[in-house]
Amino acid sequence: MTEKITAVKGMNDILPQDAYLWEWLEARVRSLMQRYAYQNLRTPIVEPSALFVRGLGEVTDIVEKEMYSFEDRLNGEQLTLRPEATAGVVRAVVQHNMLYEGPKRLYYTGPMFRHERPQRGRYRQFHQMGAEALGFAGPQIDAELILMAHGLWQSLGLQGVELELNSLGQPKERLEHRQALVAYFELHKGELDEDSLRRLHTNPLRILDTKNPQMQELVNAAPRLIDFLGADSMAHFETVQAILSANSVAYRLNPRLVRGMDYYNLTVFEFVTDQLGSQGTICGGGRYDYLIEQLGGKPAPAVGWAFGVERVLELIKSQGLAPQGQVPDIYAVVPEMAQLPLAMKTLVSLRAQGLHVQMHSPGQSASAVAVAAEPGASSASSAPSEPAWMQLGSMKSQIKKADASLAPYALIFGAQEVLEGQVTLKALRDGVGEQRKMPLGDVSTWAKALQCELNRTAD
Ligand code: ATP
Ligand code: MG
Repeated sequence: MTEKITAVKGMNDILPQDAYLWEWLEARVRSLMQRYAYQNLRTPIVEPSALFVRGLGEVTDIVEKEMYSFEDRLNGEQLTLRPEATAGVVRAVVQHNMLYEGPKRLYYTGPMFRHERPQRGRYRQFHQMGAEALGFAGPQIDAELILMAHGLWQSLGLQGVELELNSLGQPKERLEHRQALVAYFELHKGELDEDSLRRLHTNPLRILDTKNPQMQELVNAAPRLIDFLGADSMAHFETVQAILSANSVAYRLNPRLVRGMDYYNLTVFEFVTDQLGSQGTICGGGRYDYLIEQLGGKPAPAVGWAFGVERVLELIKSQGLAPQGQVPDIYAVVPEMAQLPLAMKTLVSLRAQGLHVQMHSPGQSASAVAVAAEPGASSASSAPSEPAWMQLGSMKSQIKKADASLAPYALIFGAQEVLEGQVTLKALRDGVGEQRKMPLGDVSTWAKALQCELNRTAD
């Protein structure tokens, strides 16, 4: 046997029964985005490495150790598989001068890549859906985005998702806070771990984000940024909170919430749950008023969020909120080859009415294919027999398959009834009606009735 090739570690296949859930969630999010008038934007998965180094900040975890960067051997370009999408969205907005016509509300979905240690809820290829509002300065847009995400959890029926909120203020306010922070940690240098010592002068704010339990007390008592915010920043933050409160959206102020990228200012937020182990953040976002300028655009404010599709789906599944998998409306039973062409023509008409139809067809194992392909294989068997694909299976075995498919109906193309110009529609579950003969000459009439009954829409 030839050796098998397996997927790259931390990068998952999404198999059909799960992919069905993905499509369902994506459709829900798309509809939500449209209700809030956000438009879809699709950017490349590969971007110039400089985009992320400049956009996310050189001393962030992502840029320091998580990026899949490589040189294009054909032309020497330095490229990176995107670890997040905001930088790419901003690049596209600047490149196409999209804010020229006015502010933009955008959303995206797709794979992201980070070289992290794979574990539950943390993968090397993972997926985000995100929304970005560019060109808006007011706190009402921060609130709009938070309401949108909150509305998504609500419409999915998710329980136990909490909103954490903070304000990072403006660069000048952060600088003053940073000086106070460095002075404080200098005083307690002996209590800092290796990571924090390294960050003390490069990115002291990130020390506040430490997960080291031994440093929690120290970090809790550190100077708080909120105490350094000026009147404008406070008014912005308070307006966001007022809108959330008016909408009965509960939130917890978390002065230690700093987020992993350098580009944030003013409002930052995360939706967290304690039901996913240590990977409990399902969605994160905030305002990034200086990123557009930093990436070469005309200065313009912006705010956005992204949620992790894998984590949200895991939560949906663990709370029993996932819809039933894909089930056909009709399973077509065709016991003999002679009826097959007419049967397939009928099924095409049913599908045109929006019905989901699965046709019975015998499976063949790969080893049987290999045997058949061997020279002399068929002549070796004594009696000449019809090829395997002609043996469609008995009526009984096909009905069994129909039952196992969970389809509410079987449509049976028996030789005798087809001769009479009819086909049998057999109810397989309780409550979907009797066994009936349907005319083959007038498929669209009864197909329309089925379409209504099963809630399908035609093309
Ligand atoms: P974490 O603190 O869990 O590392 P993060 O702050 O790095 O998250 P963001 O960059 O804000 O995450 O991305 C937004 C969301 O994308 C996260 O809240 C999470 O749901 C999801 N996410 C981030 N990294 C991964 C990953 N490696 N695997 C799966 N989902 C992820
Ligand atoms: Mg991370």
